[in-house]
Formats: sequence, C-alpha cells, structure tokens
Amino acid sequence: MADEKSCESCGSDCGSAGGREKEKFNKDDKARDRDGNVVEYNLAGAVDRREYARSLGRIHHKVVVMSCKGGVGKSTVAVNLALSLAMAGRKVGLLDVDLHGPSVPKMLNMEGTIMKSAGNIIMAADYENLLKVVSLGFMLGHKDDAVIWRGPSKISVLQQFLRDVEWGTLDYLVIDAPPGTGDEPLTICQLIPDIDGAVIVTTPQEVALADVRKSVTFCRKINLPIIGVVENMSNPSCPHCGKEVEMFGCGGGEKMAADMGVPFLGRVPMDPAVLRSGDLGKPFVYDDPGSEAYIAFSRIMRPVLKLKDTKEKPDLEGYRDPVGGGEV
Ligand code: ADP
Repeated sequence: MADEKSCESCGSDCGSAGGREKEKFNKDDKARDRDGNVVEYNLAGAVDRREYARSLGRIHHKVVVMSCKGGVGKSTVAVNLALSLAMAGRKVGLLDVDLHGPSVPKMLNMEGTIMKSAGNIIMAADYENLLKVVSLGFMLGHKDDAVIWRGPSKISVLQQFLRDVEWGTLDYLVIDAPPGTGDEPLTICQLIPDIDGAVIVTTPQEVALADVRKSVTFCRKINLPIIGVVENMSNPSCPHCGKEVEMFGCGGGEKMAADMGVPFLGRVPMDPAVLRSGDLGKPFVYDDPGSEAYIAFSRIMRPVLKLKDTKEKPDLEGYRDPVGGGEV
C-alpha cells in the first residue's frame, strides 16, 4: 500500500517533504538556479549530521571568511580576526580549508606541525595557548607540495575536516574558506548549517566592486547572513603627516557594501609590515599592537564579538564523545 503522503494513482512520494527534497536536485545531486549555477548539494544520506554536531556542536559561533578571488588578504584577515578574538579573551579555533593555498601554517609559523589523532579523530594543534588551529597545510608532506584535487576528493576532505576534528568547547570558530563562489565555499556553508555569517574580504580597486557584488549575491542565495565587508590593502596614511597615500585606491569595497545594503566593517591599509608579518609567521595583531592595521582589526572584530546566542543547540542526544568518552 502506498504511503499516506504518496500520490494515490502512481505511488510517487512527490507530495511529501522527502519527495520535494529529491525533486530539487538533479541526477548529479546538485540544485541549480535559473542561470545554471549550483546553489545546493544533496548531501543527505552521505552525511550523518550528528557527526558534524559532535565535532562542531560545542562551538558557539562560526564565522566564515570568504573572498571572490585569491590574493586579496582573506587568510590574513582570518588569522588576525581569530587572534584578535582570542586576545579579547575568547576561546577560538581557526580552520584553514583553503584547499589550493593553505597559508595559515606559514602565517602562524607552524609549518611542519603534525596534528595528533586518536582513532578517526584529529586533534587541533595549539598556537601559543591562544588558538586551536587546523589546516590542510599540516597534512601535506612538504610545504612546497601542490595538491591536485579532483571534485569528489575536495568534497570528501572538506567533510573530513568538518566532521573529524576535536575542537572541544569554543566561543568562535573562524573558517578560512576557499576563494570564489563555487563548489568549495558552497560545500562549507552547507555542511555547517549554523554558520553565524560571512566576513567578505575584498580590495579597494574598481574590479573589487564586481567581486563584492558576487560574494554578496552568493551569500544571499544560500541564506548566509553577511557580517560585513572588509576592504583590505586600502591606501595607507603617511607616517609623517597622517595624510592618505595614494596606492591601490580606497573606498571601492565600502561603496559597494553601501550600495548593496550590507555592513562595512573597515579598511586594513596596505602596509609592508603586514606583508612581512605574514612572511615571518608573526601575525601583526599579536606582534605589532598599535599599528594602523592593528587598530583596523579592533574595529573589524567588534560586530563579531557582538554576535548573539540565538541559535538552537544541535541534537546530540545519545551521541558519545569518542575522545572524552562521555556524552557530548
Ligand atoms: P588570500 O588568502 O586572499 O589569498 P593572503 O592573506 O594570503 O591572501 O595575502 C596575500 C599576500 O598579501 C600575503 O603575502 C599577505 O601577507 C599580503 N597582504 C595581505 N594583506 C596585506 C596588507 N594589508 N598589506 C600588505 N600586505 C598584505
């Protein structure tokens, strides 16, 4: 006999929630919008949500740092935002899932770190007793190794990172997402259903305007709240007279944020000290307090510190913590 929600004549379950869910996706398990862009993956079945809840369920806030393309300072912002929050007394984790250019180990001088594991569980590494850090870079044999990812292996490594890491209890997890608005950031945002929001990083040039627009549209399509836009590599101030020095321009990100009705978090100036700090593995918020970039970060961090605890707790009933041994 057909299920009570099934069509009486053909027995199909297209009227049921499950049927509608299935209908949304094509045979390749992707849902697309009218322009053919992938807007959702069908991860149901492949993923036990409770496994994600075990790893991520004791993290109060998750913030994803994204950009439309590489090289705009996304990792710099992710590292320094995570450290700023930690220095403000919060328990913070930093997850680097930029699959093609995991630069967090370099920026924190943690190259060569080996993450410990217990069974299937990966233990996050420690940075100066301030941050818990997980990076794909820790898993590469040599720092110069390049990884050639095929689509499915990308998705499975992202799943593993989100499912198998032991973070413990954290106030914040800052996620350095892969650049772009394609499959990889989409997967991250879908696998973590309770992300608080995105910080979008851009540069100030004219081309940035199109980038911010794309990132904002991406977030809106997947219903991801936008915490705000950071304009990185903005014109610096002259150290002598304090006047703005014309370099890469200024204001592109801010203008577009205003045009699109999303918050603007602030500008980080183009500063050789920021570049050096990345190369030397000494993040500037930690190493150079008082710099213009440091002050910019104290502002950028404020709305993240004010995120509200309005989310429902994940359903962890009966799920045992494989590391601690007790109930989560
Ligand atoms: P992405 O993650 O977007 O690829 P990164 O954060 O790795 O970008 O930054 C790319 C390079 O630019 C790095 O060498 C970094 O140190 C440098 N950089 C980032 N922001 C600034 C800045 N405000 N001033 C100077 N150099 C910067």
